[in-house]
Amino acid sequence: MPEAAEHHKCVIIGSGPAGYTAAVYAARANLSPILFTGKEPGGQLMITTDVENYPGYPDGIMGPQMMEDFRKQAERFGTDIRYEMITKVDLEGDVHSIWTEGGQEIKADSIIISTGASAKWLGLESEKRLTNKGVSACAVCDGFFFRGQEVSIVGGGDTAAEEALYLSKLAPPVHMLVRRDELRASKIMQDRVLKTENIKVHWNTEAQEILGEDEVTGVRVINNKTSEVSIIDVKGFFVAIGHKPNTDIFKDALDMDDTGYLITKSGSTHTNKEGVFASGDAQDHVYRQAVTAAGTGCMAALDAERYLTEKGII
Ligand code: NDP
Repeated sequence: MPEAAEHHKCVIIGSGPAGYTAAVYAARANLSPILFTGKEPGGQLMITTDVENYPGYPDGIMGPQMMEDFRKQAERFGTDIRYEMITKVDLEGDVHSIWTEGGQEIKADSIIISTGASAKWLGLESEKRLTNKGVSACAVCDGFFFRGQEVSIVGGGDTAAEEALYLSKLAPPVHMLVRRDELRASKIMQDRVLKTENIKVHWNTEAQEILGEDEVTGVRVINNKTSEVSIIDVKGFFVAIGHKPNTDIFKDALDMDDTGYLITKSGSTHTNKEGVFASGDAQDHVYRQAVTAAGTGCMAALDAERYLTEKGII
């Protein structure tokens, strides 16, 4: 006989600023939340160094330390934290079901989704092999290691522009590899990039292979207009081609936009399914900040609490 599924009032999926903030609010509202961390407890901030723009830390704080503090605060009010991954959901009906990687079913009256987003990669074999050996998806985290050395960055959006500008202060010159003959970034960011002397934009250029055995020594690029192949000597190779929300498991269950971001009702965290709320980067491709994620995590817990009250569950 299979064991009866656990049944909880509030389940939170994800452990970044949104998930932990939802947990603090839900726990203090006596919802006895359980929180599934996913396979990267702490989320994207775990691969960040100094966080200087989170209010309340006048001297800045290291990303992993901040997430440790978030976790402790959630636990202090009784959140049950489970270091497991959720791999399947059924969000039909009043009581929802989710399943852990190990196949355990958990039933929940309300669910808060805070599964975040992950950086996109080019998909080159050499990119995988040299990750953390000169290849990075976060210039702000890792740029410092390449002070005074040539680096390249792939992408033409606001993130790539912002990161190229950041790198240009550390590493002369910065080679920006742009696959078209224009940037997608906002006009103001384009102007800044194009006016910065030590950022060299390579138009119509794609990375074919990152060179090096144990560390990056260069990148082989192709001009997709002329088919000319060349090598640029760089020590750091940054990828800034966007993020992908971690929402695959909700594909057939919830409304999402073309790129997979969950759709919430304006001014709230309600998804199209009753009792299911979305917060953080899984539903936000615009702001993507720790503080905005935490804010929507708080909103999701308050929305869940109101929903459970209206349903007469609490
Ligand atoms: P975007 O999707 O806006 O841009 C991605 C960039 O990467 C595009 O230039 C795209 O090229 C390029 N790209 C995608 N795939 C590949 C590939 N396989 N090979 C080479 N290049 C590739 O992502 P961002 O992360 O830059 O921005 C996401 C959102 O966040 C945007 O709305 C942006 O405005 C916002 N943002 C705002 C900031 C701010 O206001 N300060 C800072 C950072 C982000 P192509 O153009 O050819 O498609």
